[in-house]
Amino acid sequence: MNNYLSIEKNLTKYIDAGFPMLYIRTYEEEKADRHILAAAGRREVLEWNGADGFVNFKTKVPFIQNQSLESTLAFLKNGKELDRKLLVVKDAIKEFETGKITSLLKEIARKIRIGDIDTTVIIVSSELQIPKELESLITVMELGLPDEKEIYTIIEKFLEENGIDGVFQGLLDEMSTAFKGLSESEIRNLLSLAISSDGELTRKSLQLIFDQKQQMILKAGILEMVPLKESIDDIGGLENLKEWLQKKATVFKDIKKATEFGVTMPKGVLIAGVPGCGKSLSAKAAGKLFDVPLLRLDMGRLMGKYVGESEENMRKAIQLAEAISPCVLWVDELEKAFAGIGSGAGGSDVTTRLFGAFLTWMQEKTSPAFVVATANDITKLPPELMRKGRFDEIFYVALPNPEERGKIFEIHLKKRRKDDVKEIDMEKLVEETEGYSGADIEGVVGESVENAFVRGSQRLTTNDIADCIKHTQSLSEIMKEPLKEMAKIYEERKFKKASR
Ligand code: ADP
Repeated sequence: MNNYLSIEKNLTKYIDAGFPMLYIRTYEEEKADRHILAAAGRREVLEWNGADGFVNFKTKVPFIQNQSLESTLAFLKNGKELDRKLLVVKDAIKEFETGKITSLLKEIARKIRIGDIDTTVIIVSSELQIPKELESLITVMELGLPDEKEIYTIIEKFLEENGIDGVFQGLLDEMSTAFKGLSESEIRNLLSLAISSDGELTRKSLQLIFDQKQQMILKAGILEMVPLKESIDDIGGLENLKEWLQKKATVFKDIKKATEFGVTMPKGVLIAGVPGCGKSLSAKAAGKLFDVPLLRLDMGRLMGKYVGESEENMRKAIQLAEAISPCVLWVDELEKAFAGIGSGAGGSDVTTRLFGAFLTWMQEKTSPAFVVATANDITKLPPELMRKGRFDEIFYVALPNPEERGKIFEIHLKKRRKDDVKEIDMEKLVEETEGYSGADIEGVVGESVENAFVRGSQRLTTNDIADCIKHTQSLSEIMKEPLKEMAKIYEERKFKKASR
């Protein structure tokens, strides 16, 4: 992958070396244009784009109105018009659907290779989808999002251009961090917006940046920003897991000092086990505990219909999470995405590749994007995932023990009927809820409160709740056998127990 600033150098190098086709992946066409123009030197640049057809690269004025890519390439492939020039193609992915375009590009590439034409075709797109036949002919360059140092330079340049000085160093540093995940043009737009609304750059501008980032995540559609509501105190029991998370939070909050001290960057945790027992709750609480944004990766939404789309989505999600880091990335229902690996079923190729991308990322990750993956059924997960080096730890969440049930009752009762809690016989409730999950208990509390209200009671009593328990089927009644089976596997694999 190419560094954002060295792209121009590489472009020049590839063009001079006669590479037939380059693929610049970027969210910012304008920026790509600037780099191409600089790298072109004295060569003239031609462009085809989906909006206007065959155009003058600098002015974007069409040579002929709405000329199709096919006829443009057919015209250019003879060579004369293209010699010692560059051809930029935008919006090409849709065009690839017809095999004709691929054949024409192949033919042009062949002529470049044998020295018939001296040119380079540069495809510019935000997504990476290359037809198989062109794979060996194309060199991919990434115009990634700017990193913190580069953002700093962008801000400095912007301030200089606009004659603004006297911005505090500390604020500049904070802004450079806050802008992470945005492209150069987005950063410049936001700076203009901040200045036109406040007349200067202040702490208030930071809020604008955060709001904008949230917008961006929502627009991408694969990641969702989860509001930080739940805290570690909302989790009843799971003391081992909570203690472990707290330790990692201490490291994470002071990551610079910690790494200087020699501490390894925390990678993440896999929390697996019985449904409704606080796995998602723990993931959500981790965001607040770590004091960073919480991003939820929806595995269902990640799986696209087109070849390459799921991997592309995974790549985008990882890139966004890295750019927004420090953050907690909650990968929900991990087993859903990775079901079917190696099973030979349709689509398993995609899942295998997806899984590979995820594993590699987990293995090599050095950014402060802490992964909390949750899974209900670990038996569906491939064993590679459980190997050391991927997650820092794997926890197994079981049905709550008596002490934990008491705590879960207390948490949910306090949320709804704070004043009634002291009158309630917890021991009795705990005794009668053997085999209930945390979600079952929450359900019982919710329902008994509602019943009491409908009946016109002033208070909630132990009997109200006990009545409700009698009418509720617990999770272990519903899924007795699968739960037993799961518990056995967890014991065998010696995962850490989330409960003490
Ligand atoms: P899962 O383990 O399937 O991810 P959740 O964490 O989503 O389950 O639990 C569902 C709901 O049940 C939670 O929102 C919470 O209200 C309740 N709950 C489950 N476990 C606990 C717990 N240990 N402490 C408090 N509430 C719990």
